[in-house]
Amino acid sequence: MKPRAFEYVRAVSLQDVFAVLDSHGDEAKVLAGGQSLVPALNMRLAAPEIVIDMNAVAELRGIAVTGGMLRIGAMNRYAEVAASELVARHAPLLARAIPFIAHPAIRNRGTLGGSLCNADPASELPACALALQAMFHLRSSAGERSIAAEEFFAGTYTTVLEPTEVLVSVDVPLAAADSVSFFDEVARRQGDYAMAGLAACAVRRGGVLRDVRLAFFAVSDMPHLADAAMAEAEGQPAADLDVEAVCAALGKGFTPQEDLTTSGAAKLHLMKVLTRRALTAFAGGEA
Ligand SMILES: Cc1cc2nc3c(=O)[nH]c(=O)nc-3n(C[C@H](O)[C@H](O)[C@H](O)COP(=O)(O)OP(=O)(O)OC[C@H]3O[C@@H](n4cnc5c(N)ncnc54)[C@H](O)[C@@H]3O)c2cc1C
Repeated sequence: MKPRAFEYVRAVSLQDVFAVLDSHGDEAKVLAGGQSLVPALNMRLAAPEIVIDMNAVAELRGIAVTGGMLRIGAMNRYAEVAASELVARHAPLLARAIPFIAHPAIRNRGTLGGSLCNADPASELPACALALQAMFHLRSSAGERSIAAEEFFAGTYTTVLEPTEVLVSVDVPLAAADSVSFFDEVARRQGDYAMAGLAACAVRRGGVLRDVRLAFFAVSDMPHLADAAMAEAEGQPAADLDVEAVCAALGKGFTPQEDLTTSGAAKLHLMKVLTRRALTAFAGGEA
């Protein structure tokens, strides 16, 4: 299929973007890497009157340590984030996760901000943002607001972004020297969307796990933080942890949502498999 005819605007500054968003509201869509938006246009799942290309907006790019946080611009492509030495040092979970996203051609175009704003519940990076306690910076012509990753996702393909706002950057707390991270997913083929996946991190201090974060994806309508399981693992010795108690807690107050290929029960089973792998990695010192 071909998209419905639309007007194309190439923005070179955020002011250009806001000018069009303010005048067109819901009828305008920003274009980042285009890896979700362009297929949606072609299938007429999206039919905006106007598309604002943000690829030449320099303010949306860059990776730097600032104010004690790692700041990543929304328009940084997956491949750039994965190749960044700063990311490898300060947010290794992101570097671990990106090779699981689709294929190289998509990773060369798709952006961090596009993935987060698209809010596909089966996407890897929204779960990483939750695990890492990332802070999102949103801007419009009216000003800027910052919102925690946990407050950003509102459902399948839905976030709290207003039609006139864009995500400009994401701040990630710098990983402590004794932090550990784990990323894995179960998919039918390499590059497919996951049937279930886990982004996890913790601090392993004196052999004890602290600040344990277990963020699952492809199990619900948005990334899911497994609070009860995290509490079960918190403060436990990494090498002598009751792994089955942590796994049992995954199902406390949470029922995974089935999708076209995988039942809720199968997803809960996969969540346990991934949790055992994460805790084993955390105990072994190789995470
Ligand atoms: C074959 C294939 C396989 C894929 N497999 C995976 C996979 O395994 N895992 C995965 O996570 N993804 C996968 N994707 C999707 C891909 O990761 C997309 O790149 C990503 O979802 C969107 O990022 P983008 O930069 O391309 O954004 P775009 O497609 O340009 O935009 C996506 C949406 O976000 C909005 N948007 C983008 N940036 C901003 C911003 N800064 N502020 C506000 N709104 C914004 C756009 O208006 C649009 O609604 C796959 C895509 C394809 C085609």
